[in-house]
Amino acid sequence: ASGYSLLRDPQYNKGLSFTEKEREAHYLRGLLPPIVLSQQLQEKKLMNSIREYQVPLQKYMAMMDLQERNERLFYKLLIDNVEELLPVVYTPTVGEACQKYGSIFRRPQGLYISLKEKGKILEVLKNWPERSIQVIVVTDGERILGLGDLGCQGMGIPVGKLSLYTALGGVRPSACLPVTIDVGTNNEKLLKDEFYIGLRQRRATGQEYSELLHEFVSAVKQNYGEKVLIQFEDFANHNAFDLLAKYGTTHLVFNDDIQGTASVVLAGVVSALKLIGGTLADHTFLFLGAGEAGTGIAELIALEISKQTNIPVEETRKKIWLVDSKGLIVSSRKDSLQHFKKPWAHEHEPVKNLLDAVKVIKPTVLIGSSGTGRTFTREVIEAVSSYNDKPLILALSNPTSQSECTAEEAYTWSEGRAIFASGSPFDPVEYNGKVFVPGQSNNAYIFPGLGLGLVISGAIRVHDDMLLAASEALAKQVTNENYEKGLIYPRFSDIRKISANIAAKVAAKAFELGLATRLPRPADLVKYAESCMYSPIYRSYR
Ligand code: NAP
Ligand code: MN
Repeated sequence: ASGYSLLRDPQYNKGLSFTEKEREAHYLRGLLPPIVLSQQLQEKKLMNSIREYQVPLQKYMAMMDLQERNERLFYKLLIDNVEELLPVVYTPTVGEACQKYGSIFRRPQGLYISLKEKGKILEVLKNWPERSIQVIVVTDGERILGLGDLGCQGMGIPVGKLSLYTALGGVRPSACLPVTIDVGTNNEKLLKDEFYIGLRQRRATGQEYSELLHEFVSAVKQNYGEKVLIQFEDFANHNAFDLLAKYGTTHLVFNDDIQGTASVVLAGVVSALKLIGGTLADHTFLFLGAGEAGTGIAELIALEISKQTNIPVEETRKKIWLVDSKGLIVSSRKDSLQHFKKPWAHEHEPVKNLLDAVKVIKPTVLIGSSGTGRTFTREVIEAVSSYNDKPLILALSNPTSQSECTAEEAYTWSEGRAIFASGSPFDPVEYNGKVFVPGQSNNAYIFPGLGLGLVISGAIRVHDDMLLAASEALAKQVTNENYEKGLIYPRFSDIRKISANIAAKVAAKAFELGLATRLPRPADLVKYAESCMYSPIYRSYR
């Protein structure tokens, strides 16, 4: 390729890092200023300029520009500065980016499959420049974070998630494919927006919807084979559970909102036992929000308790209670409940709201998965704290605006006794002269490592035991140093090591269950996982 096109190809471009020899060999002379910079210096320069921006969305745009210009440098920054840049390329800023996608949109990223492509999805996949794809993250934009239906603008989510697959999990960027399926939107504001980039119609449902999804899932398998992972992301729950059930037995599919969240929260609860005491079975759980996240987490906790105690899961579910927008889920509501709520409809008189539920259930663990902010009120947190020496409080909803409470509220209203973690990050809080460091309970701890484990073992199906294995591997990474700060998760700065451990445990499960196709099984799976991970260091072109 000519030097000029080399500079414009983000996969190969190194900007000022092209050496004298490379400039000579690849017709780059004169196309760059004379200085040669190391990758470290480039990184320093870019971090300086990103830190100059006060507005998070500007940081986000600077990162997206870099990704389009120089992919390796983008990943170098993200990997080396993960705690600082995660909130930029992921929650909370990615939420704002999706809301404003129309106006910040420059060059299309990922693949758009709309109703117009019906009957042609295989052709669409062939338009994508990369042939060997390992991970697809797909959304239909109907439930973006806790922000609702953002239609086609949901593309920010698959793009962001896949950049974490690479940065945190080490999957090659060229093996990642972000997809947005556009069946319309019910968001009135977008439908009226003259700059909206998606189909200007209300959402297709029923047969029209399921046919498009079926064509997509089939075309993916036909084009990329059986070992490509399809991660469903931010679908509304009326489709999410059905898609997972429908394709889970025939394709390598995974729903991060249901399964990934479950795995990460189980890990947090298990690791929190060191601080709050008892075994899983000793605790009483109350959820606000009985959708994908809430019921997914509840089910995995019940499953783990069942494995630990040999008590059937129908029984272990009974110490787990969920509240939805209509109140506590109880048996008298069974007839009108969505199918995924039915296992949680225990015998109890009706209770109309969270505060009353807290008072009658007296949970030791309170989990927010409602997508609605400010729902853990002072009364709620005071009530939980009155029954527990150390209440475990998880406010999972994203982005920050939808968090059930802030870290400061959790610590203040519990008088410094809460063990707290949240889906989107909060800064440390000082209360009564003590500094509390809130942890982040976010599926970014799990999905990159889980995906890597599936990829390196050549797995053909996702199994619940893999979610449990991933969860256990994550919980094991929490150190005494973390516990001393009140943290129930390890630091994100160690994420690549954490992901390699998760990947190894997931791959081991895949081999054990006969679901792995990469034979023979590598002896040391942690080493193998590490050796498979993408490195952002520039290669030299001779
Ligand atoms: P979902 O399937 O739509 O479920 C939301 C649930 O919350 C529903 O059961 C809904 O009740 C209930 N709800 C909403 N507002 C409520 C209120 N004011 N009071 C009581 N219940 C209320 O959504 P999801 O997929 O579970 O996601 C929920 C949130 O979790 C989102 O903000 C998402 O970003 C977040 N999340 C975080 C992570 C993480 O890693 N931290 C992972 C996944 C998801 P009805 O059923 O009655 O409508
Ligand atoms: Mn999600």
